[in-house]
Amino acid sequence: MSTHVTHWIGGKPFAGAGAAQRSADISDPATGAVSGTVDLAGAAEVDAAVAAAREAFPAWRDASLSARTSVLFRFRELLDRHSDELARIISAEHGKVVSDAAGEVARGLEVVEFACGIPHLLKGGYSENVSSRVDAYSIPQPLGVVAAITPFNFPAMVPMWMFPVAIACGNTVVLKPSEKDPSAAMRLAELWAEAGLPDGVFNVVHGDGAAVEALLEHPDVKAVSFVGSTPVARSIYAAAAAAGKRVQALGGAKNHMLVLPDADLDAAADAAVSAGFGSAGERCMAISAVVAAESIADDLLERITRRVANLRVGPGDDERSEMGPLVTREHRDRVASYLESGVREGATLAIDGRTHPVLGGDPDGFWLGPSLLDHVTPRMRCYTDEIFGPVLSMLRVPDLDAGLELINANPYGNGTAVFTGDGAAARRFQNEVEVGMVGINVPIPVPVAYYSFGGWKDSLFGDSHMYGTEGVHFYTRTKAVTARWRPAGQAGGAGSGPGAAGGRPVSGAGGAGGVDLGFPAGG
Ligand code: NAD
Repeated sequence: MSTHVTHWIGGKPFAGAGAAQRSADISDPATGAVSGTVDLAGAAEVDAAVAAAREAFPAWRDASLSARTSVLFRFRELLDRHSDELARIISAEHGKVVSDAAGEVARGLEVVEFACGIPHLLKGGYSENVSSRVDAYSIPQPLGVVAAITPFNFPAMVPMWMFPVAIACGNTVVLKPSEKDPSAAMRLAELWAEAGLPDGVFNVVHGDGAAVEALLEHPDVKAVSFVGSTPVARSIYAAAAAAGKRVQALGGAKNHMLVLPDADLDAAADAAVSAGFGSAGERCMAISAVVAAESIADDLLERITRRVANLRVGPGDDERSEMGPLVTREHRDRVASYLESGVREGATLAIDGRTHPVLGGDPDGFWLGPSLLDHVTPRMRCYTDEIFGPVLSMLRVPDLDAGLELINANPYGNGTAVFTGDGAAARRFQNEVEVGMVGINVPIPVPVAYYSFGGWKDSLFGDSHMYGTEGVHFYTRTKAVTARWRPAGQAGGAGSGPGAAGGRPVSGAGGAGGVDLGFPAGG
């Protein structure tokens, strides 16, 4: 059955505003067939979504914290109840196996649970008596309409790094998911509506660069959260910042796994296979470079090769499959081209995924089995480029010093891991490596929801990581208040105070009657 995916604006599907509608095909990666179409927004649809979000903002900002959290708790329950259905929607358009897709929903759900604790996270500071009868306090307030622009590889989880926290903080959201797998975002929008989220608080526009450009140019969009490839992240950061918006733009990755001679080599080989080939390597935290100490490199390669031979590649909805197809034909061809370029540049093709058997797969599916290039050096294209597919590169180094030097010279800094039995070596690695997320005997160190997710260097443009307390900071701005209340009956400046308190406010330095602020109150 062919699906047609349109936008979600003001609490319902929205077929489009402009006369000239554009659309794109959606593919089933396991068969190569077109399975549906998605509308592509232009400026008119983006305007409509931002207007709906702007209209919903004042009431949502002023909704009590308990009203906001009751919606979040209900959304969490619905997400949990529909996680299998969501996983199947993701798998059908992305290609990843259903169990991987269920894992992504579970990680997104953890951020929703984190956001359910928002009352605690939105407590400001309070200082009594900063001067005589003067108190100072800070209030974190929402920003307004925020845009979320997300990549194809986690069509549910990456949006959920952003919108649960943004909405919990009192903002309204326009999500622009990847046009390659747009259906998960629509199901999430329906679940929000079922949870009782007021219309217009969460909107979805589908589209490509034109929709993104319209969001970046829109004066009512106050902040932009982006996740995608480094060139796009870099340009979105520059454009959004130039337009005066707050922006966090997470980019691509080249994640190294350093294996030292004293590592548990079976654990390291298991980790290289699951972190290198899980989700067909289309994970920003996938291991793409295995950096092996020379003394154990052959042994490690032999253990990886043995495991890869047993890896079951097949359609995402087949329970036997451990790895599915790639997202599009073009992407599969681009990833496969690195096997040829690697060999041309002097690497050894130790495992050729082009010959890996596909269980029950349609020959037109976007298949590429797990592959490994050995004896890769830092100048080869298969090392300098982000491949974003099931191709591991193996590099050999003499020791920890050389491994650290190699990893730190790479422009990306998203995730990395060290496998070792030596605590002191692990501690030195953790201390000196220039990467935002570090695993010690853990291959994919995605931080849990109450920490924050983000890389360093070319993997993140901006100052804030996603979710956790950094997410709360990103989606709020702080107002600092300095207040003086004079007891009733005392002489002072004009103004009417709250009757219940029996006091009245005195305005700054202008107030007569012994102003003793330790700072210029008008400044
Ligand atoms: P992409 O950069 O092609 O697209 C990301 C988003 O930007 C999509 O919504 C897309 O429609 C939009 N877009 C694409 N080209 C654009 C352009 N020229 N102008 C404006 N908008 C544009 O990324 P992708 O292929 O969807 O996803 C894979 C990439 O995302 C990889 O590089 C991966 O490492 C990265 N990623 C990073 C993280 C992280 O946390 N750092 C997480 C997931 C994915």
